[in-house]
Amino acid sequence: MPGCDACIPHGGMQRGIVSFAVRRVTNACLSATVCFLFVASLSGQTVSDDNIRFRYGEAKKGMDTAACPAHTTDISEDSLVVAFFTAANYYPELCGVNIRLRYGAVKTSMAARPSVGSMFRKRSKRTYFLIVNRRAKSPQAQLLHEIPFNASVGLMGHELAHVLDYSNRSGWQILCIGIRYLGKNYRRRMERQTDATAISKGLGQPLYDYARYVIHRSAVGEKYRRYKLTYYMTPEEIRNALNNTE
Ligand SMILES: [Zn+2]
Repeated sequence: MPGCDACIPHGGMQRGIVSFAVRRVTNACLSATVCFLFVASLSGQTVSDDNIRFRYGEAKKGMDTAACPAHTTDISEDSLVVAFFTAANYYPELCGVNIRLRYGAVKTSMAARPSVGSMFRKRSKRTYFLIVNRRAKSPQAQLLHEIPFNASVGLMGHELAHVLDYSNRSGWQILCIGIRYLGKNYRRRMERQTDATAISKGLGQPLYDYARYVIHRSAVGEKYRRYKLTYYMTPEEIRNALNNTE
């Protein structure tokens, strides 16, 4: 079995050593470059997405309402429209799904529901409503137009996670969810899972800002604060989930 030196042509020992050294250095550089690009792509995917904070002006400039024509809105508050389309960007799989942002009478700040008339239609023919509560005095909810823009993107992200879940279920299964949702344990499991979905989509930081605002900063009643703490991920839990993905 020939040794390494046997590969070097007779009389070319020096050239062989130089060429070997160049190859080693080149390989090392290539490995380092690949390693760097891999780490950079990882950090770009997790760290920047999970720590993203949206500003209204920039988000409005970057908003493309024509990208997903199935998403429509009936509401007048521009910042909420921008928050809706900003959060929807993080759910490309819902682009062809009919989702309408509108006002309505709901007990919480927002709710996501399929339209009753379309619930038993083919999944591609259904319409879902993201319903915004705009009652001036709501005993339970934090009104959406009162919260910071980034936090409203977080709440929209949570509601879109509900739509994503519904869009993968039959009409009967959605009906079943509606009934089981009356049970406290199921409701808690479902809402926390929905928060986890929004985090996995890259909207953890806006969701954290929303949860923190409602729990620590807003003037919502104690009853609503307790409701949030019981059924949803707390700001600390969202923060921990974000840290675990970094
Ligand atoms: Zn929810």
